[in-house]
Amino acid sequence: MNENVTKYDVLIVGGGVVGTALLYTLSKYTNVKNIGLIEKYSDFGLVNSASYNNSQTLHFGDIETNYTIEKARSVKRMADMVMKYLEKEKESPDTLEIFNKYSKMVLAVGKNQVKELRERYPAFSELFPKLKIINREEIGKIEPRVVEGRDPDQEILALVTEDGYTVDFKQLCHSFVNNALVLNPLLSILLDTKLLNITRNGDHYSIITDKGEIHASVVVIAAGGHSLMIAKSLGYGKNLAVLSMAGSFYTAPKVLNGKVYTIQVPKLPFAAIHGDPEVHIENVTRFGPTAKPIFQLERHNWSTFSEYWKTFGIGWSPIVSLLKIIFDKVLFSYIFFNFLYDLPFIGKRLFIREIRKIVPLLRLKEIRYDKGIGGTRPQIVNNSTRKLEMGEAKLTGDKIIFNITPSPGASTCLGNAYSDTSKIMEFLDNKYKFNKEAFEKDLM
Ligand SMILES: Cc1cc2nc3c(=O)[nH]c(=O)nc-3n(C[C@H](O)[C@H](O)[C@H](O)COP(=O)(O)OP(=O)(O)OC[C@H]3O[C@@H](n4cnc5c(N)ncnc54)[C@H](O)[C@@H]3O)c2cc1C
Repeated sequence: MNENVTKYDVLIVGGGVVGTALLYTLSKYTNVKNIGLIEKYSDFGLVNSASYNNSQTLHFGDIETNYTIEKARSVKRMADMVMKYLEKEKESPDTLEIFNKYSKMVLAVGKNQVKELRERYPAFSELFPKLKIINREEIGKIEPRVVEGRDPDQEILALVTEDGYTVDFKQLCHSFVNNALVLNPLLSILLDTKLLNITRNGDHYSIITDKGEIHASVVVIAAGGHSLMIAKSLGYGKNLAVLSMAGSFYTAPKVLNGKVYTIQVPKLPFAAIHGDPEVHIENVTRFGPTAKPIFQLERHNWSTFSEYWKTFGIGWSPIVSLLKIIFDKVLFSYIFFNFLYDLPFIGKRLFIREIRKIVPLLRLKEIRYDKGIGGTRPQIVNNSTRKLEMGEAKLTGDKIIFNITPSPGASTCLGNAYSDTSKIMEFLDNKYKFNKEAFEKDLM
């Protein structure tokens, strides 16, 4: 072994919110000191964690109507960790501006949706005691523009809570890194450093980057959609592919006071259209995200086109899975319209019909397509079941973990860090200690 090569106990690849949450957790709650993080760009959180690339929502599962109660319970546990972290950070003197808090509701429109929401309420209000069920009049008090101009015969109902966290996840990355560095000044953080190749060599991994070679006993890949590509290069996740679902946004002047979600189509693993206040510009309301498949692992970055196909895999299996998924009746018409929403002239005219389900009197000239805005969600395609999987995926190998993170990957970043840290301790033969009690006391 080359003695001049740096060797870490733990190397994290990827400086988005998932990688930096792990960096923070390792630094604050374990005694592992020899930790490295590499990020290919010059700053943290520039890809899907960037505030302009996602919906900026801390998802708890209370207003996401495609979540089952079990899924909501699991997401809530992890979102609570981020909420507690944010509230604690707010108190520190030189805190970054990471989040804002608004009301948050899910709106049912029409008889069927109203019935569905009413039936959902009893179980969900047990899990979320602050969730209230409100009628037209109360909706109008909180969100006047939702009621103004609406057909009086149209039934509406909403579930509302005061816990609507709008988060700048890029700033959260910075907060995690800043705090980690205070706790462990020995951390080695290498920006502008891209993993090009990784191999297993005896007791360690050899990572070739564009800046040289690194060795590590344990590696965690937190590289979004790229995690699956790297996993496949080591022989993991062969039965998986990625459907990269880009999301765009339209913006309007402030027409909502808080977050307003719509009822989700149960088959779809992506959020239904919603309206949210922009995290740093209170007088702007963002509507979206749309969802259309693209052949890139990173939106607006054509150099990830060939990487997409490496992740997709060769052979008939992923093609058959993809065709089966896309030609499902519900998904096909959904994707078809979502393609149109990105087109000039016609996109805006079609998309406003969706927005008007939330704000009936919104005028066409009030909305603007946000060019160059919106990331892409690496939705997992399972070639064994030929199904699209909901939420994040984790592959665990020989002293290596791969995190693939569609929505709500930012909301679950600390929960993910908790389970990765437990696994890392095992990988390091329990020579180090994870102070779970302290983590749980602070964040659970
Ligand atoms: C339209 C849209 C809306 C969304 N809305 C929400 C929401 O409201 N709430 C929510 O919780 N989640 C939301 N998500 C999901 C959320 O944005 C992601 O789950 C989250 O940002 C994932 O974080 P990450 O750190 O895994 O990935 P990223 O933030 O993408 O970070 C991965 C990092 O890895 C780096 N990297 C990649 N390859 C390499 C390499 N070879 N070498 C070194 N570094 C590398 C990248 O440069 C990047 O910085 C949304 C996503 C989209 C696209």
